[in-house]
Amino acid sequence: MLRITELALPLDHAPEALNQAISQRLAIDPSDLLQVQVFKRSYDARKKNTEIKFIYIVDVEVRNEATLLARFDQDNHIKPAPDTQYYPVATAPERLTERPIIIGFGPCGLFAALILAQMGFKPIVLERGRDVRTRTKDTWALWRKHELTPESNVQFGEGGAGLFSDGKLYSQIKDPKFYGRKVMHEFVRAGAPEEIMFVSKPHIGTFRLTGVVAAMRDEIIALGGEVRFESKVTDINIDHTNNKQRVSGVTLADGSHINSRYIVLALGHSARDTFRMLHKNGVFVEAKPFAIGFRIEHPQSLIDTARLGKYAGHPELGAADYKVVHHAKNGRAVYSFCMCPGGTVVAATSEAGRVVTNGMSQYSRNERNANSGIVVGINPDEDFPGGPLAGVELQEKLESHAYVLGGEDYCAPAQLVGDFIKAKASTQLGAVEPSYKPGIKLVDLASSLPSYAIDAIREALPAFGKQIRGFDRPDAILTGIETRTSSPVRITRDHGTLQSVNTEGLFPAGEGAGYAGGILSAGVDGIKVAEALAKAMLEDIGAA
Ligand code: FAD
Repeated sequence: MLRITELALPLDHAPEALNQAISQRLAIDPSDLLQVQVFKRSYDARKKNTEIKFIYIVDVEVRNEATLLARFDQDNHIKPAPDTQYYPVATAPERLTERPIIIGFGPCGLFAALILAQMGFKPIVLERGRDVRTRTKDTWALWRKHELTPESNVQFGEGGAGLFSDGKLYSQIKDPKFYGRKVMHEFVRAGAPEEIMFVSKPHIGTFRLTGVVAAMRDEIIALGGEVRFESKVTDINIDHTNNKQRVSGVTLADGSHINSRYIVLALGHSARDTFRMLHKNGVFVEAKPFAIGFRIEHPQSLIDTARLGKYAGHPELGAADYKVVHHAKNGRAVYSFCMCPGGTVVAATSEAGRVVTNGMSQYSRNERNANSGIVVGINPDEDFPGGPLAGVELQEKLESHAYVLGGEDYCAPAQLVGDFIKAKASTQLGAVEPSYKPGIKLVDLASSLPSYAIDAIREALPAFGKQIRGFDRPDAILTGIETRTSSPVRITRDHGTLQSVNTEGLFPAGEGAGYAGGILSAGVDGIKVAEALAKAMLEDIGAA
């Protein structure tokens, strides 16, 4: 296979134009082009008012490949295609009796379980929340009726935190082994649209993701794995010998125990009780930077026009996204986070008496507003000194205060951008309708975050208005607060074995452990950890 990069075609090109362009680029007869696979398709919107173009990366099979490669030897855009196939690293022997445990069934736990199951290791997944259908009802009860179920909500349950989301499936992680392709491939096998394999910023939206997750669970079970819902791990059992510690099993909320010397911790960033339990048991945990801020909402049409010019609303491009960054005078970086085109702002708490926001959308991305987190990076040394769990405590304090500001019924405190910049409480909405469910209460958000964050965001919004016209329009809405941007802790692991630095057999993984940020990277980390665990198990029984 050959890979051709930077192949540009007009946005409205006919399907057959791609093969013609490839034949032309390679200067071959069309009959010598045997097979074409689009590896990636992005668009170049730099000339948004004259011509937006599709940019392709294609893998092609041709007659006389070696001759062609030699002819284009000096051309950096025509090279042999890399092998992106996934190859399992191990196979469980028949005599293996011990089963690995995976705590958490978000994207990280899902992929750790799937890979282990595909290699024959028959994992046991323990998930505190409920299955995807029941969880959907529980989550809607918060959004519609102000009723929170602490163990089954936006953060907890089958599919993890990414289930009710925009389902954005891209990441900036380095991925030399193409694990991201494996993640996408498995999603497609489970029912996701095929286009996620090649569009440059794929997304599947909430409803499709729920079906995909349930199908993947069925495969894990069919391969001999087990997935147990409403199974919260409340304690981790650790053996101490010769100054070393090693996991030996877990205790569940109902008091039962399961033994295993191989445990994946795929907890997500909201398992605060479990972080505390691990720290109490002597597992090495440290504080790490994260970000705090608000969700901002604008009409999607404003973003489409700013980003796509005369192509705004073009069906091939869909709802436009954005990314903005501002370095404030007080030294803080303010940036957009988890932008959801054509989506809604959602209540994302997992704890009673707390308010935290996030964003989601459906596959169509056709809601009236665009939203994103506008957040300020914070770090343990400067902003929350005081030990490994100080970031968790800061989040709890801010989210409790937001609950009070919102009226103590899970409505969120909100303010118009114009009023926020002028430091006065909002009393009336403008043309932008907030989408947050169960509802908002207009207030002055100044007390909702530390003053350095308020100052930095106040300075950043007009600066963003220079990058995207209308971004700082006075009636854009800020909804508070965004605190769960990433995990406030790292459950540090050894780079080589991927086991906890001080507890053997424990494999911290995914977002909660500080090794991923988003659905795709959490899935990729799940694959890496599954491979490391499988190798460790085989080594221990002398079968490596
Ligand atoms: P999680 O998905 O958080 O899963 C952890 C699981 O562990 C949970 O199901 C939890 O119930 C379980 N658990 C925790 N403690 C225990 C315990 N003690 N016992 C048993 N089970 C336990 N990312 C994107 O890439 N694109 C997006 O569009 C996107 N949108 C988002 C929208 C929302 C509303 C939210 C909340 C997040 C969004 N994210 C998005 C972030 C993404 O969801 C996370 O990065 C990702 O889910 C992390 O995966 P994970 O498996 O590491 O953890």
